[in-house]
Amino acid sequence: MKAVVFDQHGGIEVLQYREVAEPDISPNDVLVRVKATACNYNDIWARRGMAGLAVAFPHISGSDAAGEVVKVGSEVRGVKAGDEVVVHCGVSCRQCEACAAGQDVFCRDFRIWGFQTGPLDGAHSELIRIPAYNVVPKPENLSWEEASSLPLVLVTAWRKLVTRAQVKPGDHVLIWGAAGGLGIMAIQIARLFKARPIAVASSDDKLEVCRKVGAEFLINRKKQDILEEVRSITARRGVDIVFEHPGEATWPVSVQAVRRGGTIVTSGATSGYEGLTDLRHIFFRQITVMGSTLGSKAELIQAMRFVETGDIKPVVSEVLPLREVGEAQLTMEHSEVLGKIVLVPDGNGSR
Ligand code: NDP
Repeated sequence: MKAVVFDQHGGIEVLQYREVAEPDISPNDVLVRVKATACNYNDIWARRGMAGLAVAFPHISGSDAAGEVVKVGSEVRGVKAGDEVVVHCGVSCRQCEACAAGQDVFCRDFRIWGFQTGPLDGAHSELIRIPAYNVVPKPENLSWEEASSLPLVLVTAWRKLVTRAQVKPGDHVLIWGAAGGLGIMAIQIARLFKARPIAVASSDDKLEVCRKVGAEFLINRKKQDILEEVRSITARRGVDIVFEHPGEATWPVSVQAVRRGGTIVTSGATSGYEGLTDLRHIFFRQITVMGSTLGSKAELIQAMRFVETGDIKPVVSEVLPLREVGEAQLTMEHSEVLGKIVLVPDGNGSR
């Protein structure tokens, strides 16, 4: 079978589309033929290399997949060959106290599949081996491409806004990178909870997409002063929640944009890890800063219900052959992506 593999860190030139051995499954695993797989920023971090992230070579990236189960392990119940599934990309020990409590995101062995090195190769491949626990039925109202674009960004945005920041009706939610993978989900989740999404993006074209999926207010960060706009939208109060992920470049603005007693919830550092914080803002204005990463399978299932009802819709801007993953990563690195880019392995077909 074919997969996208890299043997060293570097630019997109290290990505090779080549023949690899088919995975063997363990008793609790399933083998899935990948119909479509999405691109995530994590793929770029793994390829570039990042302090504190151990990547074993050869490495196959990819944390999202939709496909058809072709084989199940001897201990698997409730999943069978022919099932159409998507993959929840949180992998944990399933044994510890945190896992037993449904808090697998706090398991010491918790890993993002395809990103952090573990026993499993990632999704940028024709066939994948994954624990049966990690598969979730594919929503019937979505194509393979749409379904593959969702799990990672959907569960991350859901946990950030619903579980962590506890978004509620009327909340002003400032969403950075609003036309990106996380942002498009955040807008729709905020709307679902009758909150008031303020989309920030770098072009009017991107903002138009944000408007279409439910953003109430639009800010073009290249043309407008974000703090001035926030003051005007919120009658000088500040926003209730900031949905952070660009990191260093946006952090000081996020700290000033949030209201007294408001919350900044962060899950990323695309532009750098060292967000400068004037601590006086944190204590005088009693701001809550929350970290969040991925989410549990339960959170994904909860969010997926709203995909099935059509309240949360995927936005797929490009579908490319799997071998062109490098082009997709460049588009993301240049902040040119709208929603998600999806890859389709040669020969596996799609519908
Ligand atoms: P995308 O590439 O889809 O979108 C990111 C958007 O962020 C860009 O389109 C851009 O929008 C905006 N952005 C980038 N740099 C800057 C900057 N300097 N200033 C302001 N905005 C900027 O990525 P995702 O939405 O999928 O992921 C975003 C980040 O979150 C990544 O770093 C990723 O690794 C992380 N992440 C973390 C997860 C976790 O569990 N911890 C899970 C998922 C993602 P524009 O130019 O239009 O403003």
